[in-house]
Amino acid sequence: MNMDNDRSTAQDREDRDGASGGALVVLSGGQDSTTCLYWSLDRFGADSVLTITFDYGQRHRVELVAAEKVAEHAGVQNEIIPINTFPSLAENALTDHAMGDVGAVDSTTDLPNTFVPGRNLIFLTCAAAYAYSRGIRHLVTGVAQTDYSGYPDCRQETMHALENALNLGMETTFTLHTPLMNLSKKETVLLARDLGALPALAYSHTCYLGQRPPCGRCPACLLRAKGFQEAGIDDPLILGMSR
Ligand SMILES: [Zn+2]
Repeated sequence: MNMDNDRSTAQDREDRDGASGGALVVLSGGQDSTTCLYWSLDRFGADSVLTITFDYGQRHRVELVAAEKVAEHAGVQNEIIPINTFPSLAENALTDHAMGDVGAVDSTTDLPNTFVPGRNLIFLTCAAAYAYSRGIRHLVTGVAQTDYSGYPDCRQETMHALENALNLGMETTFTLHTPLMNLSKKETVLLARDLGALPALAYSHTCYLGQRPPCGRCPACLLRAKGFQEAGIDDPLILGMSR
């Protein structure tokens, strides 16, 4: 995304809406959402940023702990909101303990079995509802269409449509920010460095197997390691574990 364009659009909307409103970051406790939190602190200021984390029955509670620790480290408020319907709605490897290898591709959909249908749509709709009543008009999410092209709910087109739907459905002027949308993992690591997010990344969690120290072999661990390696930066999470 062109950040200058993004900024002017947001400013225009603020002027129209009259709500500066601050920002709400959807914080999963992972690398990308942690980076987005620091992007938001840089852009909106520490006093104007809140974080929200969804407890959706993920296999590994360590993700929720990571989100709390990242928010605490950043000095921002974090609220954990339960959404416990995903396991009842559909099978997927992130909530269903009985499923096999995480990251395997489903032969009928061609999507990774870690795809949770509707997850980002539901998260962002809930985040918008939370933000609405608090006068917050900026929503920030760490979705990216580059490395995670297998997830259709991470695409730019989906996010534009959702922003439109939220604004129509709540008759307001949310701006849905996706600062990582077109960045590679390497570029995301470099952005995290520039924003001063590296110390917070020591508390973040990525491993699909829920391991700390991370397993280093699952698709999420491999993707994270590749990004840090290409950026020429040591992963603070791994460094912290080896001390
Ligand atoms: Zn792993």
